[in-house]
Amino acid sequence: MKSTQAKTVIGLEVHVQLSTKSKLFCSCPTEASEPNTAVCGTCLGLPGSKPFLNKKAVEMAVRTALALDCQANREFFFSRKTYFYPDLAKNYQITQFEKPVGENGFVVLSSGKKIRIRRLQLEEDPASLVHEGSAQSSAFSLVDYNRSGIPLVEIVTEPDMDGPKEAREFLNALVVTLDYLGVFVHGKNALKADANISIEGSNRVEVKNVTGFKAVETALLSEEERQRKTISGGKKVARETRGFDEKTGSTFSMREKETEEDYGYIFDPDIPPVSMSEKYLAGLKSSIPELFSQKVEKFKKSGLPDYDARVIASEPVIAGIFEQAIKQVKPLTAAKFLTREVMGILNYNKITPREAGLSEKSIVGLLKMIEGGLVGEKNAKVAMIKHVLEKKDPCDFLEKNNLLLDLGEKEIGKALEEVLAENPRAIADLRAGGAKAVNFIVGQVVRKTKGKANAKIVQELLAKKNQKHLM
Ligand code: ADP
Ligand code: ZN
Ligand code: MG
Repeated sequence: MKSTQAKTVIGLEVHVQLSTKSKLFCSCPTEASEPNTAVCGTCLGLPGSKPFLNKKAVEMAVRTALALDCQANREFFFSRKTYFYPDLAKNYQITQFEKPVGENGFVVLSSGKKIRIRRLQLEEDPASLVHEGSAQSSAFSLVDYNRSGIPLVEIVTEPDMDGPKEAREFLNALVVTLDYLGVFVHGKNALKADANISIEGSNRVEVKNVTGFKAVETALLSEEERQRKTISGGKKVARETRGFDEKTGSTFSMREKETEEDYGYIFDPDIPPVSMSEKYLAGLKSSIPELFSQKVEKFKKSGLPDYDARVIASEPVIAGIFEQAIKQVKPLTAAKFLTREVMGILNYNKITPREAGLSEKSIVGLLKMIEGGLVGEKNAKVAMIKHVLEKKDPCDFLEKNNLLLDLGEKEIGKALEEVLAENPRAIADLRAGGAKAVNFIVGQVVRKTKGKANAKIVQELLAKKNQKHLM
């Protein structure tokens, strides 16, 4: 049984699209609605067409390398990786080999464990193949060259992850960093990975071209199980390249593993090597915003517990709102509402903070009302839901619908009298020192007033009455 106890070893080659407006080597747009409309001679690989390097893409790649604690090379160049496939019209992909943009970085997981990054390189995406039916049994495939030439960074890790869960956590942490940098394109093709996985002491398998976080985790889980079963069945795991079928959630054999030598990398003479001055590189470095770990430290200094600081810092949009909010309300007020209510509502509706189009101003306004005791918890949440789902301004909504805690003490007192008269048993409990009875009575008053009585004031009135034996 020794083999089943052996450790799982995972290393990832992650491809992410950089958020440039135009492609890496031509001026075609990176977005298009109809297939094969964002194309030109260069990205179609027509003879005589020449590539021009996109400066913005270079800057984004260098900034990403720096943010991932890589050593950024001041000089690097591009190479041609030769292979024949319909997604690659010129029969070679322009990528990097000998000298990439960055080397030797790392990402820190919440456990404190470091996942080392071997290299970060800039390359073009091939075209996308649209298979009729499934990739394995397709009668024909269509090619869309809109994707051909889209700028990607490929991030290659060392085999430092010990399971699919850790791989998923790594990807999440990676995307948080990319989000802070503003270089990540969310959406369908947002992230693709080649997932390398082995069981200690056995051969490694590379699962090619898995699209999306969830798919990477699923592919790894199913491949881990397959390899462990193979080993415990007394067979050997073959060194091979496998594909992932999203429909079945399992991997399938594609081919024997190719080696880097098979690609015959050669320096691309069409693109001059990039050479950056110290000053230029320093400029890029200083353009890097505060990232996750710095935000966590900062939020903790403002008084948040570690957990809340991490939850907020892991969502750049929420972190931004939090930082604006604490200029006007207490950090704990903001943190509590943002993590429990705002993020709760978003999760429930399966909307990401970025997609939600949250208004910083609206939410800060609402937080001020909460802190000022102008709105109860329940109605604050209702107003937030209206903001998320219907883009309504929460403060406006509360006012228009008469949901503010605007009852005066006199009216609250009247409602309290009524509640007490209706609940003689609660009074008895209260006299016997029951804290539950206090909550019950306050709850009844809030309900009777349709949420317009401030619970704090009800509590004060009740305490006063009790002290003076007025019940
Ligand atoms: P190749 O030459 O096959 O591309 P590399 O050494 O360049 O191999 O590694 C490619 C990826 O495979 C890297 O992400 C690396 O972390 C991962 N890797 C290397 N060895 C293992 C292993 N034993 N198990 C799982 N992944 C591995
Ligand atoms: Zn083009
Ligand atoms: Mg490789």
